[in-house]
Amino acid sequence: MIVVLAGPPGAGKGTHGRRISAKRGWPHVSSGDLLREAVDSGTELGKQAEEYMAAGVLVPDEIMLEWVEELLGRPEYAQGVVLDGFPRTVPQAMGLDDLLKRRGRDVGRVLVFDIDQDAAIRRLATRISCSKCGFVYNLTSNPPDDIGTCRACGGELETRDDDTAETIRARFDEYRTLTEPMVEYYRKRGKVSIISTEGGIDDVGRRVTEALDGPRAVGARGREKE
Ligand code: AMP
Repeated sequence: MIVVLAGPPGAGKGTHGRRISAKRGWPHVSSGDLLREAVDSGTELGKQAEEYMAAGVLVPDEIMLEWVEELLGRPEYAQGVVLDGFPRTVPQAMGLDDLLKRRGRDVGRVLVFDIDQDAAIRRLATRISCSKCGFVYNLTSNPPDDIGTCRACGGELETRDDDTAETIRARFDEYRTLTEPMVEYYRKRGKVSIISTEGGIDDVGRRVTEALDGPRAVGARGREKE
């Protein structure tokens, strides 16, 4: 199944994206992580995206669509994929649907993680993540064993440059103006499940499982013959 994760910053998309991936074997693709890697290693995509990312604005839709078209053509994504951070706008969603249709595929479910701005700001203020594998920790709810080192891969833990109160507010505004209309686009097509982020990681994980295995998701999986 092709699963799209949406939700404001701090809602837990990365954490649950990795959990879905580990449980179901569909690779987790975080557009933000891949773009940061591309910038660090100086690839063509990285050069194109760098100035937008540094300015804290979205990379143009055409660049993102070219990137995802190449990505989804790879064999490792044939069975399913968890898209985290893409699509993020209506044109990206339309472009994705178009290119999937050409390949006889379809978005199976769009999981929208619901969190209010104050709770997200509190969460992001204590978030640290691995610079190597992207694993996300929280200093209060899910601390690493060793403050500087990733439990999963031994990489160095860091705070993201864009996790400041000011940029978090700007990213929330961007979510409301550009991404909420995208959620509405998929809602009209019957693809959206709203996931409450109340409670612990396992409570949210159970809601994710229900959304992916519930009756509305069966048709989507059936179409992909999985
Ligand atoms: P994230 O880690 O998802 O918050 O993304 C970090 C940055 O990467 C964003 O602020 C954008 O500049 C860029 N980016 C990630 N995903 C997208 C996307 N789907 N469309 C445009 N820009 C993106």
